[in-house]
Amino acid sequence: MSPIISVSNLSKTYGSGFKALKGINLDIVKGEIFALLGPNGAGKTTLISIICGIANPSEGRITIGGHDIIADYRAARSMIGLVPQELHTDAFESVWATVSFSRGLFGKPKNPAHIEKVLRDLSLWDKKDDKIITLSGGMKRRVMIAKALSHEPQILFLDEPTAGVDVELRKGMWEVVRTLQASGVTIILTTHYIEEAEEMADRIGIINKGEIILIEDKATLMQKLGKKELTLQLQ
Ligand code: ATP
Repeated sequence: MSPIISVSNLSKTYGSGFKALKGINLDIVKGEIFALLGPNGAGKTTLISIICGIANPSEGRITIGGHDIIADYRAARSMIGLVPQELHTDAFESVWATVSFSRGLFGKPKNPAHIEKVLRDLSLWDKKDDKIITLSGGMKRRVMIAKALSHEPQILFLDEPTAGVDVELRKGMWEVVRTLQASGVTIILTTHYIEEAEEMADRIGIINKGEIILIEDKATLMQKLGKKELTLQLQ
């Protein structure tokens, strides 16, 4: 089966000459949860931003569902939902208005049934009329996911979805991600936490200093760590 995302020979050098990504090759399979695990500054956000077409690579090529992210941006973009690390929502809007507006940005016809499904999947239905400002941090993060899913993307990127949240909220987020995978969405998430990658991912890629040093299915990676064939420094 051809991959839903294909990244080949991707490099990024910032203006300062700093090489943030060095020759990344990565295929993502439709329907999987892929975790990109790495310490601060490894290049996770840079990689996601380039795959999503927000930043340009210095070298390399990315296709999303066969569409080149640069040459065929609109088609590729419509397949992607992105939940960035920072929360971007209008505090005064309701949950429903926030998520519906986001769909409108894609020029898609209204589909209240889809918005309702997304809000129900994320346990936000009871809060649909609440103003964003009244929600807890965990619920706001769910609204960000609902926004990202509003236009029915096939792929969802979650950049450190549980950074700075407590253990209970983290577990709640894991549940949400599993529900989304069951509904057919392919998920790529970044994390610092090995236990999060172990809990959720089908495959794990380890990134350090701009290079993907290993990609394994979860069981193989855990075995290597258990046998001390591999050690990770993630902080
Ligand atoms: P974190 O886990 O802290 O979010 P990360 O793995 O997502 O880190 P990136 O944010 O992708 O890492 O950053 C990778 C490297 O590139 C870091 O050393 C960072 O300082 C550098 N970097 C990021 N953006 C820029 C920029 N606009 N100009 C120069 N260097 C940058």
